Amino acid sequence: MPKHIYRFIPNFSDSTLAAMQLEGLKQTVKRAFASPQYQALFAQVGLTPDDIQSLDDLQKLPFTDVEDLRRGYPFPLLCVPQKDVVRIHASSGTTGKRKILAYTQKDTETFALQMARCFELAGLTNEDRLQAAVGYGLWTAGAGFQAGSEKLGMLTIPVGPGNLELHLQLLQDLKATCFGATASMALLLAEEVDRCGLRDKIALKSMICGSETRSQKMRETIEEKLGLEASYDIAGMTEMYGPGTAIDCKYHEGLHYWADLFIIEIIDPQTLKPVPQGEIGEMVVTSLRKEAVPLIRYRTHDLSRILKKRCSCGLNMPMHDKILGRSDDMIIYRGVNLYPGQFAAVIGQFPELAGEYQIELSRDEHAIDHLLLTVERAQGLSQDNDINLATRLEHKLHQALLARVDVQITNYANLPRTFSKSKRVIDKR
Ligand code: ZN
Repeated sequence: MPKHIYRFIPNFSDSTLAAMQLEGLKQTVKRAFASPQYQALFAQVGLTPDDIQSLDDLQKLPFTDVEDLRRGYPFPLLCVPQKDVVRIHASSGTTGKRKILAYTQKDTETFALQMARCFELAGLTNEDRLQAAVGYGLWTAGAGFQAGSEKLGMLTIPVGPGNLELHLQLLQDLKATCFGATASMALLLAEEVDRCGLRDKIALKSMICGSETRSQKMRETIEEKLGLEASYDIAGMTEMYGPGTAIDCKYHEGLHYWADLFIIEIIDPQTLKPVPQGEIGEMVVTSLRKEAVPLIRYRTHDLSRILKKRCSCGLNMPMHDKILGRSDDMIIYRGVNLYPGQFAAVIGQFPELAGEYQIELSRDEHAIDHLLLTVERAQGLSQDNDINLATRLEHKLHQALLARVDVQITNYANLPRTFSKSKRVIDKR
């Protein structure tokens, strides 16, 4: 096992982690009883704090969902007096009303800690400089990147999203070594640096990408065009402080998550029962240290799985897979459950293809469903080989998904690029 060299990342044994989780769970349930909203939820299942005696008792707790946050607006599930709240953040609200989450002083410190741990695991030190293209303001990303970066001692350049020109100027002037952005923004930057021939004028060594699923292809394109040594995928959500719940280390075998700060369960989104270990399902989180808004079995609607293997880096923090899509985005097509991440994984096996893709579902006059996958040809390749390529991809997809789909190849950069989460599924049924 490599020497443990981290300032902020602990390396607990399995038994210590389990003991910390049980203690954190008991405290969290006790704390939650301060909230009338939680009291009502617990009353429905007849639960008292004394019912939590082991980690298995987690199953006795009720689920919470985004509706619980909306219902308690503007201080949902608040478990401390309002005078103890020092900050709020709000989600971008991709669906419905905005969610507001409250933080105590201690919560903001834990938020900074989880981000500092992520930067550390990505190999950054106080010698590094971070330029942040993530959203500042009500959003959690900017505040989290800033606080975690400063905690680690990095010079932090808070530019925010968009404004490519300013980013390019500052990258040349201030020589940031790491860039924090959504995958879409990172791709835009990489393409612009490539187009303007700026690669030798900047000093970027690594990239931290958050907020949306990034295919292997997208990762390679970003790294190659910017001349990076490595890039990392950071996970997180407003409900769990913000970004920084998990990140991959230099071995990229999965995303290490902070098991002393929260418990992750994977459930079947239909039956709500835990899936067998290692299988894909919806991630459900229970916080262990949150004060203002502790989360109890909160349904994230994100699809992933817990990886069974231990990482080559030797760190004893469990790993989950990349976020493979939203449980709400799960496509039911000809009786098979599919999710966008599965398509990305197959596309990634073809060097002749770029990373962008779009899925269109339709229903014909005989009530038969059709799925058309549009995928971009890799940059610089001619279209002569498109028919052959589409046939091979259709075959591989059929093997991987157990469903027949149609493939259409389009020119590089033909599909929409956005600053925000890309919309990949169009359902016309
Ligand atoms: Zn690792």
